Amino acid sequence: MKATVFYGARDVRVERVPDPELKSPTDAIVRITRAAICGSDLHAYHGNMPVEPGFVLGHEGVGVVEEVGRGIAGLKKGQRVVVSGLVACGECFYCRRGQPSQCAKAGSAVFGYGKNAAGKLGELGGEQSEAIAVPLADYTCYPLPDGVDDDAAVFLADILPTAFFGALNGEIHPGDTVAIFGCGPVGLCAVLAAHLFGPAEVFAADSVGYRRDLARDLGATAVDLGEAKQKILDRTDGRGADITIEAVGNEGALAAAFENVRGGGTVSMVGVLGKPSYDFPMGLAFQRDLTFRVGLANITAHIPRLATLIEHRRIDPRPIISHTIGLDETPRGYKIFDAHAEGAVKILIKP
Ligand SMILES: [Zn+2]
Ligand SMILES: [Zn+2]
Repeated sequence: MKATVFYGARDVRVERVPDPELKSPTDAIVRITRAAICGSDLHAYHGNMPVEPGFVLGHEGVGVVEEVGRGIAGLKKGQRVVVSGLVACGECFYCRRGQPSQCAKAGSAVFGYGKNAAGKLGELGGEQSEAIAVPLADYTCYPLPDGVDDDAAVFLADILPTAFFGALNGEIHPGDTVAIFGCGPVGLCAVLAAHLFGPAEVFAADSVGYRRDLARDLGATAVDLGEAKQKILDRTDGRGADITIEAVGNEGALAAAFENVRGGGTVSMVGVLGKPSYDFPMGLAFQRDLTFRVGLANITAHIPRLATLIEHRRIDPRPIISHTIGLDETPRGYKIFDAHAEGAVKILIKP
């Protein structure tokens, strides 16, 4: 089969790799019909993540079940599913508590980063490919309702649940002011997710004009990063936002999230870190009684609820799609997404 293979910083190639195989009774093979490039793939693309060359990239995908192991109870050949970027068992202590990112069997395992993010599973494939072997497939795959098409469903594999997790962690109450830093695909999904909780106003800050335009279309008050602070102060009687959400995974956005939250407020970070640790403003957090929430989103736990919201047209992430490309064009997709060129926002791949 064909797949997107990581070779090194800014070197991504589409080539033939061995077809995926069932290795355990709880595996399934899924033929991918839609995949996507994620902002966190750019950490690998930039060479900031220790990803060994030769691995298949991608942790966001939708497809059709092609084969199931004999231990699979809930999936059938021919079924349309979203494959969660996060692999989890659905049965352990953590999964039962709604915390599959800590799954005792899988151990924070994410597709598409080689061995480094494969947790306890040792090795995982990637979803920017024609097919994938999915471990613990009964829980990692979620059968899709007919009312959720492939384009909308691919958002369920990671970024919509991640954004929703960020909004949940912010504990947004009706009438709150929310400020989101970063209007990439996750930040834009965070605009949609924040609105589920009845905020008075959702600010979305970014330095790229066309991303701000999209945030505005999705219902946010879009502001340039440079003017965010003043505008948020003006609208909150000089206090700052009740909740700020960091949606990029870089230090600048995190600093802005701390700078723009009110005393007693909450900073919620969902961007995947581009290096092992960032500076934490402990003194500021102490003095201003701030709550800080951060974590690898419990993607799998949030998929059913968000699929229902898409099915019932309460959320539609599809306006965030800027390009749909063939698998052969994936290297170009990385290039334009990284460069903010050609209006790139969410790039889908149709193998
Ligand atoms: Zn992702
Ligand atoms: Zn588990």
